[in-house]
Amino acid sequence: MTNAYEIIDHEYDVVVVGAGGAGLRATLGAAKAGLRTACVTKVFPTRSHTVAAQGGISAALGNMGADDWRWHMYDTVKGSDWLGDQDAIEYLCRNAPAAVYELEHWGVPFSRTEDGRIYQRAFGGMTKNFGEGPIQRTCAAADRTGHAMLHTMYGQAVKQNAKFFIEYFALDLIMDDDGACRGLIAWKLSDGTMHRFNAKMTVLATGGYGRAYFTCTSAHTCTGDGNAMVLRAGLPLQDMEFVQFHPTGVYGAGVLITEGARGEGGYLTNSQGERFMERYAPSAKDLASRDVVSRAMMIEIREGRGVGSEKDHIHLNLSHLDPEVLRERLPGISESAKIFAGADVTKDPIPVLPTVHYNMGGIPANYHGEVVTKRGADNDCVVPGLMALGEAACVSVHGANRLGSNSLIDLVVFGRAAGLRCGELVKVGPNAPLPKNAGDDALARFDRFRYAGGGTPTARLRLRMQKVMQTNCAVFRTGEVLEEGRRLIREVYDGMPDLAVSDRTLIWNTDLLETLEFDNLIAQAIVTMESAAARKESRGAHAREDFPERNDSEWMKHTCAWFSNGKASLDYRPVHAFTMTKEVDYIPPKKRVY
Ligand SMILES: Cc1cc2nc3c(=O)[nH]c(=O)nc-3n(C[C@H](O)[C@H](O)[C@H](O)COP(=O)(O)OP(=O)(O)OC[C@H]3O[C@@H](n4cnc5c(N)ncnc54)[C@H](O)[C@@H]3O)c2cc1C
Repeated sequence: MTNAYEIIDHEYDVVVVGAGGAGLRATLGAAKAGLRTACVTKVFPTRSHTVAAQGGISAALGNMGADDWRWHMYDTVKGSDWLGDQDAIEYLCRNAPAAVYELEHWGVPFSRTEDGRIYQRAFGGMTKNFGEGPIQRTCAAADRTGHAMLHTMYGQAVKQNAKFFIEYFALDLIMDDDGACRGLIAWKLSDGTMHRFNAKMTVLATGGYGRAYFTCTSAHTCTGDGNAMVLRAGLPLQDMEFVQFHPTGVYGAGVLITEGARGEGGYLTNSQGERFMERYAPSAKDLASRDVVSRAMMIEIREGRGVGSEKDHIHLNLSHLDPEVLRERLPGISESAKIFAGADVTKDPIPVLPTVHYNMGGIPANYHGEVVTKRGADNDCVVPGLMALGEAACVSVHGANRLGSNSLIDLVVFGRAAGLRCGELVKVGPNAPLPKNAGDDALARFDRFRYAGGGTPTARLRLRMQKVMQTNCAVFRTGEVLEEGRRLIREVYDGMPDLAVSDRTLIWNTDLLETLEFDNLIAQAIVTMESAAARKESRGAHAREDFPERNDSEWMKHTCAWFSNGKASLDYRPVHAFTMTKEVDYIPPKKRVY
């Protein structure tokens, strides 16, 4: 069947998959380095999920009072619950201010202070002087920061000589027998042709996999396709048990209300009107880190102090804020609250609930963006020809819990680093030819789904997967619930041979597209569940009621999960307990209180 496809070959020095913040920054950098660069994306670049980022981008600019990148580093290490790699965190925080100024110079319309500098707001877990109380570090373009960044960067990338392949769905990587990546194969959605990219460097910037869950703030396109391609290439994903629940998704809709709302002075209340965060995080209160706030909300609900007729959610109050602040700094979420909850933020509280928001886990990479794997005794073995960036990657700067506004900065700092690394590693000039059968496996998989003639619609299996993840791998976990989850998610997987794809066409076949995405999601759901069941401690977003304490002596290590024939296998690699330069010391673990 495979021969039936029209295959069009392309040759580039660098091919980036994904045109979100990470992909665009890397595309821009590689093209600027003089490399023949292509960017392949399944959605139009400015529709990537980055466009939805609201609250802002962190960097120790010090525009609102003193700040220091070392304080930012301390907060990020603490936020990660000491699972983050400190060399990478140092690189992130040290390079953050330059990355934000670069965005400013490219034209990102940041909100401004009275004296014309970039406005910065408070965000959860961001403190001054190594944990001494809140600081304003998050640079914002009102509550539409991602939108401003993505549009600006797309404009800049178009100006460079990068070639965009828009609405091409990447199916799989092309790997050679020595374990190096040689490019990828993609399906052009508008005409059904197959495109084989021969590349010296392939960069995965395909975003997170929030859609493995039933309620999430992520776009429908967030299916972690790059993560799944990596699993199919026989490489591991890292720390997949760490899934961030954002405290304030609109109840019932999942739409995000930015943490910036609390940064501007908003607060949470229970059915008794109590500002309960004061009990859980006496110092940071509503601006404790996300895992802490989400858990507190779930405890309030569980103990009968939820709001609404079902007592199953919490109120976010903004009505005490100056209407001018709401209009100027939070216009987008004022509109979302109206549309999705019928709440007028100047008068009514917004009904909210913790909602899946971000994946700390992903493709293991070093701070140059190079993909690494664990092979035997080599814990940081680089995979030639392959890079990973952004939410798809696990560098790991976010460890067990990401701080708000630390993702957008991760995209541009490591996107830039990857561009620089491509400039160092990739030599311009003709590529070695691909093996004749390159991409055949990917097309065989494609055919399997294209001709799937069973009795179960993809949407039905996907919904079952999403419900299992939401119920069995949520804010609080126990061994028992996770064991049940392992069994239930397995049952979903076992239903796949009976999948039905209604239509065989190659042109805009969305049923087939969603089936391929579902196949990607289920692999990630299984490794997430297995990694969670195995980790017998509580750390960051992974809260085990049966193991409530963090256990550094046994568990200060990264999970690596491989996936083959429906089964996950796990191994571990040590956390980088060292910094990049001697300018700053390793921050030793201590108890995490806010
Ligand atoms: C609602 C919301 C608000 C947020 N607010 C903030 C915030 O204020 N501050 C902050 O720091 N973080 C925020 N985050 C997190 C942050 O926005 C994301 O982590 C980040 O934007 C991810 O960027 P990315 O470049 O990795 O991927 P994305 O922006 O998700 O882009 C993925 C790209 O990959 C492409 N792609 C995927 N699969 C394929 C395939 N098979 N073939 C071809 N192309 C493919 C897509 O077309 C897309 O271009 C928010 C997240 C959400 C959901």
